[in-house]
Amino acid sequence: MAAIAIVLAGGRGTRSADPSQAKLAQVIGGKTLMHRHLDLLAGTQITEVLVVAGHLGDQVQELCDTFDHGGVSVRVIQEDEQRGTVAALLLAADDTEADEFLVILGDILMSFPVDTFISDWRASGKEVACIVHPSTHPEDSDAAFPSYDGRVIVVAKSEARDGIPNMSSTGLFAITREGLARYATCRDVGSDVLPAAAVANDLFAYVSSHYFKDTGTQQRLAAAASDVASGAFARRGRLTPRLALFLDRDGVLNAVQPEVYASRDYRLLPGVAAAISRANSAGLPVIVVTNQPGIAKGLMTYQGHEEIRAELDRQLGAAGAFVDDYFYCPHHPDAGFEGEVPDLKIPCDCRKPAPGMVLAAARKHHLDLAASVMVGDTWRDQELAASTGMAFVHAAGAPEIESDAAIVRGIETITC
Ligand SMILES: [Mg+2]
Ligand SMILES: [Zn+2]
Repeated sequence: MAAIAIVLAGGRGTRSADPSQAKLAQVIGGKTLMHRHLDLLAGTQITEVLVVAGHLGDQVQELCDTFDHGGVSVRVIQEDEQRGTVAALLLAADDTEADEFLVILGDILMSFPVDTFISDWRASGKEVACIVHPSTHPEDSDAAFPSYDGRVIVVAKSEARDGIPNMSSTGLFAITREGLARYATCRDVGSDVLPAAAVANDLFAYVSSHYFKDTGTQQRLAAAASDVASGAFARRGRLTPRLALFLDRDGVLNAVQPEVYASRDYRLLPGVAAAISRANSAGLPVIVVTNQPGIAKGLMTYQGHEEIRAELDRQLGAAGAFVDDYFYCPHHPDAGFEGEVPDLKIPCDCRKPAPGMVLAAARKHHLDLAASVMVGDTWRDQELAASTGMAFVHAAGAPEIESDAAIVRGIETITC
């Protein structure tokens, strides 16, 4: 099978910094967006790129003629009339023999492991895929969250997203030729195909801590340029193993007591959101790893636990902060108690201090554990850090003591 990339050059850009300039021609850190897309694709399995351009198409053609493509063939297709992203994809699909399409919205600045995404998508067997990440503006984003039961929850921003953790589409999609035929009557990939594919259980959501930022408004373009200038883009978007900040949940993000089994009882400790926001600004992936034996003990359901995570995300989001991913162990080894879930009362390789969650996170997010740090409040976290080669920062564990300072110390440990 051969996958190609289709770059959608996008609409009129009435909200963009300079509406007379094609979005792909916008310069960020000395390079146009088009140049950056092709740099990302060079060296991957993608050797063919089709650019669908309508508005300012001549500029896009000229742009693609101006630099070396590193062995990637690039063709620009002119679209006479804009009828939505699905119509643009159908037009491109008519122009190639390929049967898998990596869909790039032209105005997203991005850097992520392209080949890993494509192989994970193939392994999922789904016709449609999207890359998702936490949004910096969750209330103004369509939610797309891979839920505990294997379904992907997709909710438009116009609808209530209560109880859904902070994950949204990045604007990077993939679809097979068959999938494109199935959803040919949809108008837009993000707004129409994703919800339809989710309902049909035909959608793969790939959680990424790599770099994706929409540059469609003057403000967002400036934010992307500032990430390139500050090094946050390079740190988050790095394609070789990256360093990360691992956080335990209970005793670090929230108090240990009382134990939380309902989202209405969840409270972040003071200063924690601000500390995490520093890691976010630095482009440092933030990964939560938490033992939640309350699920095995029957004290909460998977669904209830997901709602608690959503509340954690909501409180972080209100302070402009987010965690990139969240791993939990639902198991507990000692069986024989009333109300427990027998299937989860097992020894496992994910309950800390076992390294299962950290190793899974390292694989999924391309992390260099020897350069990473774990912040936790118990011996389990400390032992986990030691066995996986991470530095360890001890959070005091008592309510309202030093959690934020411990997180900041963790950030300084790996960035200095
Ligand atoms: Mg703890
Ligand atoms: Zn486990």
